[in-house]
Amino acid sequence: MSGTGKTRNVSILGSTGSIGTQTLEVVSLHEDRLKVVALTANENVDLLEEQVRRYRPVMAGMVSEAAAGELKRRLAGINMEVLGGKDCLLEASVHPEADTVLNAVVGSAGLPPSIAALESGKRLALANKESMVAGGDLVLAALARGGELIPVDSEHGAIFHCLRGEEPRYVERIILTASGGPFYGRSRAELVIVTRAEALSHPTWKMGRKITIDSATLMNKGLEVIEAHFLFGLPYEQISVVAHPQSVVHSLVEFVDGSLSAQLSVPDMRLPIALALSYPERWGPALKKTSLPELGRLDFGDVDRETFRCLDLAYNAGEKGGTATAVLNAANEIAVSAFLEGKIGFMDIEGIIEETLEGHEPRAVTSLEDVIRAEEWARERAAACVEKAG
Ligand code: NDP
Repeated sequence: MSGTGKTRNVSILGSTGSIGTQTLEVVSLHEDRLKVVALTANENVDLLEEQVRRYRPVMAGMVSEAAAGELKRRLAGINMEVLGGKDCLLEASVHPEADTVLNAVVGSAGLPPSIAALESGKRLALANKESMVAGGDLVLAALARGGELIPVDSEHGAIFHCLRGEEPRYVERIILTASGGPFYGRSRAELVIVTRAEALSHPTWKMGRKITIDSATLMNKGLEVIEAHFLFGLPYEQISVVAHPQSVVHSLVEFVDGSLSAQLSVPDMRLPIALALSYPERWGPALKKTSLPELGRLDFGDVDRETFRCLDLAYNAGEKGGTATAVLNAANEIAVSAFLEGKIGFMDIEGIIEETLEGHEPRAVTSLEDVIRAEEWARERAAACVEKAG
């Protein structure tokens, strides 16, 4: 391993998920650089117990009180703190021994800990894109007061690195790449009959269930467009999306002189995770090498926005601003879980989001309460749409 930096003390929120477990793989590869301070999960006691025994954090938290009680019982002999309830996310985020918080919670439950981490001056390595979508203004306000924000999402990580050393005035636009998900190239008529199992089998990335469905509807790209708007301070007309089925070019920046910068590697989320933790250093050896001759070719195309309407729903909500993106996100969370529970069909997802947004009059977001109120309203309305569609 190379690099001369100090040890990073990391709280990992959502450690039992896809990003969380890959973060712990990165920790295992760099144990002299990374120390785990806190781990949190929702309800997966077995995996969190295993992780605690392996990585020995000083704190573990479970959002489910019952699961926390069970974890506490199992870890009775170990000298550490075990907390239950959603405040455990905040406790892990502001833990005095942590200098870095990797937020890999799924959904807008990740927003309060993102804000708390920045307010207590930590590095926020952010995978939880819903934080930015639901409360981007609040996250930026917290960032202005302290802390540091490094994106983990592979697209935003790529742009972050392409922009290093560049002056903002020379940026023409950023281009997010989209694998297109499992249904790339299909028509709307074909999408009506797709199954949950088909929607859950992503061609290039192995991810949690919610983001996998978001990738299939292209809402994931929509959420990323909004995330990019907040992270890089660009208006929506300077953020575009290109289809790229191989997921090797993670995203690009186009400059005013017409040149493009891109970041490439074989798809592996441990790379952007490691970069967000090591920044500004780079730690070797490489997790995986990318052989260009083996890749052979890279394809690009237009995204079919007429078939995958979630992308435009996200652009429209982003343009409206204020609470509109929190409503978009909450309606999507409700619709995706209804689809995963078998209550609605794949094409109902976009309809539920659209109908929820239609009834919403966006307001400015100045506090967490503004987001919570808008989300509660959206969840209720989206749930009523689910009943109608089901
Ligand atoms: P997973 O569903 O695999 O994991 C989610 C994690 O969050 C689990 O640890 C889960 O605990 C915990 N969790 C679930 N609900 C709550 C809640 N209400 N409050 C607190 N914790 C909760 O998700 P992913 O790892 O796939 O995604 C995490 C985030 O990273 C998402 O925002 C996603 O969009 C983003 N992301 C993911 C990528 C990927 O490759 N997976 C790529 C880029 C971004 P438990 O296991 O106990 O349920």
